[in-house]
Formats: sequence, C-alpha cells, structure tokens
Amino acid sequence: MKDTLKHRGMRKNLADIVAAKGVTDNKVLDAIKTIPRHLFLDSSFEDHAYQDKAFPIGADQTISQPYTVAFQTELLEVKPNAKILEIGTGSGYQTAVLMHLRAKVYTIERQLELFKTTSLFFNKMHYRPKKMIFGDGYKGLPEEAPFDGIIVTAGAPEVPRPLMAQLKVGGRLVIPVGTDEQIMTLFVRKSEKEFEKKEFGSFRFVPLLEDKN
Ligand code: SAH
Repeated sequence: MKDTLKHRGMRKNLADIVAAKGVTDNKVLDAIKTIPRHLFLDSSFEDHAYQDKAFPIGADQTISQPYTVAFQTELLEVKPNAKILEIGTGSGYQTAVLMHLRAKVYTIERQLELFKTTSLFFNKMHYRPKKMIFGDGYKGLPEEAPFDGIIVTAGAPEVPRPLMAQLKVGGRLVIPVGTDEQIMTLFVRKSEKEFEKKEFGSFRFVPLLEDKN
C-alpha cells in the first residue's frame, strides 16, 4: 500500500477535473487532492484510480465516480463535528471524504463482504468513523438520530421515510432518487413538518436494496 508523488500529482489533476465540472467547495476539492483513492480499489484497477470514473469493488457494487462523490458532499454542506449518516459504505471512499471534512460519520453497509473488507481497510489506514454498521440503511439509524446530514450513495426507488424523520431541523438529506436513472435530490428540513426539496440532474447508481441477502 503505497502513496507516491505520482499518485499525488494524479489526484491534483483529478481535483481540477472535478472543479471544471462545477464543484467549487475548496474543502471538498482538498479532500479529492488528499485521499489516496487508489488504495480503495483492487490493485488491478490502481492505474485507473484517478480517472473520473466509477469502478467495480466486488459484490456487484461500485466505488462512485469522484465527481459524484464531490457533488453529493458539496450539497451536504458538512460543518466540522457535524453528525452525518451515510447509507452504502461500499469502498469507504465517500466515508473518507466526509471524515476529511471532520464530520462524525455513521455509515451503514448491507453487503457483508464489503462491510468486512472496508472495516479492515479502515483499521489499517487509521480512518475512524464514529460507527460502521452492517445492516439495512433503509431504516436509517434511529438510535443515533437526529443527524445534521444524511447521504445515500445508492439509487433509491423512493425516499425512505425513516431517513426524513431522522434529520435535525436545518439538516440536509442528499439522495439519488429513481430506478433506471436517478435524480440527485436534496431535502432540507425547514421545521418538524416542512421539507424543502431541490433536484439536481441525473446520475446512475447501483440500487438501494431494502432486504438483506
Ligand atoms: N460510497 C460508496 C458507494 C458504493 S455503491 C463508494 O464510493 O464506494 C452503493 C453501496 O450501497 C453498495 O456498497 C451497496 O451494497 C450499498 N447498499 C445498497 N443498499 C443498501 C442498504 N439498504 N443499506 C446499506 N447499504 C446499502
């Protein structure tokens, strides 16, 4: 597991690509420049790690495209110490971006294989999310609610109600909604009962699945 000057150069270039696509938050761009994405991938994909592309990570899942990770993170408006719930840990790359912004991250993954691999990888890398949970993110994490932000990294056929309920007033939920294609959707909780909804273009994610297999 090596991080070299060459990798750092490629990351800088990747951050420039992501910025050119419209991401302006410097803290988010700094996360892209800093986090060694190649270590989150199988070594066979290492050469491609700094392209702005999604890649397979096993168990039929993918590491999201860097632009998508950056865009979702920007929409979440993470403040230091914010309590953030992530649904779909996957490779842990998005989790690492959130931790780089000094969020307290609770992350849920429903694929046991990925949950185990990423837990071990985080230990090795000394990445410390607040909690990593093996389970169904559809239900959120009621025992730790409410959250300042919730980010879903899989395509949701519909918005899981528990996630709306687990947001603080003022909190933000960023979720790709749809089946074949997803519309990136932001909900801001305005009060106990009111949510403001904004939509931001289409993306493609692996599906958010409700039941365990
Ligand atoms: N942020 C990850 C994205 C991985 S793809 C990364 O960049 O690597 C989406 C992930 O969501 C997959 O790992 C998938 O197993 C997981 N997932 C799908 N449905 C889920 C659910 N109901 N609860 C928790 N995780 C889920």
